[in-house]
Amino acid sequence: MSCPLYIKINDRDNVAIAVNEIKAGTQVMEGVTASQDIPQAHKIALEDIPAGGAIVRYGVVLGYAINPIRKGDWINETMLELPTPPSVDEMRFATNLVTELPEPPVTVWEGYPVEGSMFAGTRNILGISTTVQCVTGVLNVAVERMKRELLPKYPNVDGIVPINHAYGCGVAINAPEAKVPIRALRNLAKHPNFGGELMVVGLGCEKFTVEMLLDEADISPENVIILQEKKGFDAMIDALMEMADKKLARLNERKRQTLPLSSLLVGMQCGGSDAFSGVTANPSAGYAADMLVKGGATVMFSEVTEVRDGVYLLGERCVNEEVGRKLAAEMKWYDHYLEMGQVDRSANPTPGNKKGGLSNIVEKAMGSIAKSGSSPIVEVLSPAEKPSKHGLIYAATPASDIVCGPCQLASGIGLQVFMTGRGTPYGLAAAPVIKVCSRNDMKEQWPDLIDINAGPIATGDASIQDIGTLLFNEIIDVASGRKQSFAEKYKLYNDLCIFNPAPIT
Ligand code: CA
Repeated sequence: MSCPLYIKINDRDNVAIAVNEIKAGTQVMEGVTASQDIPQAHKIALEDIPAGGAIVRYGVVLGYAINPIRKGDWINETMLELPTPPSVDEMRFATNLVTELPEPPVTVWEGYPVEGSMFAGTRNILGISTTVQCVTGVLNVAVERMKRELLPKYPNVDGIVPINHAYGCGVAINAPEAKVPIRALRNLAKHPNFGGELMVVGLGCEKFTVEMLLDEADISPENVIILQEKKGFDAMIDALMEMADKKLARLNERKRQTLPLSSLLVGMQCGGSDAFSGVTANPSAGYAADMLVKGGATVMFSEVTEVRDGVYLLGERCVNEEVGRKLAAEMKWYDHYLEMGQVDRSANPTPGNKKGGLSNIVEKAMGSIAKSGSSPIVEVLSPAEKPSKHGLIYAATPASDIVCGPCQLASGIGLQVFMTGRGTPYGLAAAPVIKVCSRNDMKEQWPDLIDINAGPIATGDASIQDIGTLLFNEIIDVASGRKQSFAEKYKLYNDLCIFNPAPIT
């Protein structure tokens, strides 16, 4: 099969995107000749568009032409005016509930069950929570020693992860929105990969106290070390080593078991998207998501500013009005949050997104939503909340990779699937991250960082079903510990940036 020059998605589209760079003078299709060089992934006009005329891709209006555009012209981000965002007050709910989903090749996986948790662990890790950034230096020294002196004694434990963060003091702890970072840190402490073992390090004078982090029943000298109560550095390290030794010994007894997919929670997000993301990587992730949901698993997708312009499509997929209303409320909360900073959703696309052919947030959103597949949305969560249902979940987090990551971890994801067009070596310490790229060039550039290449879809060498099934199998293998993703193998771990919409003092 020869490689196509362009991809046009919807019959109504009056633009197509270039699969590879198209040179000026090339006949793209009958009656359309490129009037200038069209960079890879960028849009070419398929008809004359007058000033004020709609530019349509995915069958939706991306924006309006600022000046007349001629057939064959390159359309870049400077040439469109953003449409007004769709109203969340007039959304229709539960009108598009798809029940036909692709059958998954398997319906079981190997995980670590956790008592009292809906979802099982994908890894066996000693997670060490902190109440404040002040303890990080001491804790990091101790963790280095734990890894050297203790971890080799416990071969069934995969690693030791300190939950270092910038929250905890110098913050308005009683502000209404402080509930978001507090909930995130509380839920992170009980991540399924930590097996229910609690180990907390506090300083002693911070605003975010151990009482706010843990339930009363969990606060005991077996679980909590306060540095100000220790007589000097050596005593701190001794106490940390002693507690870690006991926790590691218990974690070492954990065993993987064959479990139904209902105990698996997978997160999805994208970063560094390009114009191919919405036709290759994200629809493949959507296909894998549909298979997971069909098999009983739970899949979470997020990133408010990247769904805002297509939110009506999500409203139609909400299982009932209650879920739909929560979706609308989360969108309104975020609109207001952006307004306070005197910006709107147009602040989202990055220079890299634009270089990758994404003109604006509408185009980015249409591609981003594709990763949710087609199944009904059974629940909508505020940032860092835990799901109470199985199926497809929308968790309303920021789109920033390093903020969405910890939010989804706090919700309990055992694994994250990360789609990229431009490339990022992103990873999480507490759960494996599988990276899917949108273009063949990206895989060639980073063969040892990208786990799955969805590029062959653009060149006509594979279908969305092919890559989606490949990704599903990769998710099951990595979740079951039979395989490591590249980010996990190289230990590429980003900092946990805890979402704090409340004031800093
Ligand atoms: Ca992101």
